[in-house]
Amino acid sequence: MNFEIEKLYDYDIFTLGEMAKEIREKKFGRKVFFNVNRHINPTNICKDICKFCAFSANRKNPNPYTLTIEECVGIAKEAYSKGAKEVHVVSAHNPEVGYDYYMNIVKEIKKELPDIHIKAFTAAEVNFFSELSSKSYDEVLDDMIEAGVDSMPGGGAEIFDETVRNKICKGKVSSENWLKIHKLWHKRGRKSNATMLFGHIENRLHRIDHMMRLKRLQEETGGFNAFIPLVYQRQNNYLNVKEFLTGTEILKTVAVSRIILDNIPHIKAYWPTFTLNLALVAQEYGADDIDGTIQKESIQSSAGAASKNGLDMEELIYQIKDAGFVPVERDSLYNEIKIYK
Ligand code: SF4
Repeated sequence: MNFEIEKLYDYDIFTLGEMAKEIREKKFGRKVFFNVNRHINPTNICKDICKFCAFSANRKNPNPYTLTIEECVGIAKEAYSKGAKEVHVVSAHNPEVGYDYYMNIVKEIKKELPDIHIKAFTAAEVNFFSELSSKSYDEVLDDMIEAGVDSMPGGGAEIFDETVRNKICKGKVSSENWLKIHKLWHKRGRKSNATMLFGHIENRLHRIDHMMRLKRLQEETGGFNAFIPLVYQRQNNYLNVKEFLTGTEILKTVAVSRIILDNIPHIKAYWPTFTLNLALVAQEYGADDIDGTIQKESIQSSAGAASKNGLDMEELIYQIKDAGFVPVERDSLYNEIKIYK
């Protein structure tokens, strides 16, 4: 394909869709991947003040909570009994609970459920743990592995452009360090994902810059499994964005990401921020994954996403089939578990 990366958004949506679909279908045909998972968000008390955040306890969301380690293990056990193969553990940055609290959540879940895949702690959390414990990134990552973390989620990337980042999440992990932490994780032979929060105050070139930084790291390490463009949710936060992000712009962004990030295997249309309907349409625009059943979700739903109670697996399978795709249950590392023909 011959195109200038900076001008990709200038193509109309159908042309972009065709370009992205060609790449997607070469890689995965009509398969749509999903997994059976459960999100656990142990605490919403945070030392940081990201303006887009509706999850952390603050004036707009005055309901601070911190789950006990036993409660986290209980949630994981219940999810496992309902068929979950992965727990996705991400939290706010709560200095009160201490470094060991976070590590012990993973340790105790792994002790009770050695078979479950634990995807835990974003690079922003790793940076916070490093500050909290005065340990280096290397030491924190080694502790995570020792505790039982299997893979890292892609959160905390937001937008790498430093000017925008400074406005929306000053004080959080820098872009450079976010990339450095994933590089160190990949060097350990481990996999991770990468997100991008879009639809707030960034522009298209910032998105392209974000994707290009990921593409370059992927060329070096090959450690990213999936790219996840997250649609900014507008409720209950301090960013005060008035403009709507249109469905066309969301689909164009999915398509552009599929075209640019041809070296990252999967593009995930994360249904909590897309809505399930648009996430299914996005499968025609380069995405091949829709995330999972989730069972319960607190971070995006605090900002208005309809993901509070997750999705029923039968409904998810029905919806994927009805959209003309083949549902494939996968594990956290994209090994196929079951194809629903
Ligand atoms: S996005 Fe994460 S780090 Fe930022 S305020 Fe919310 S919980 Fe804290």
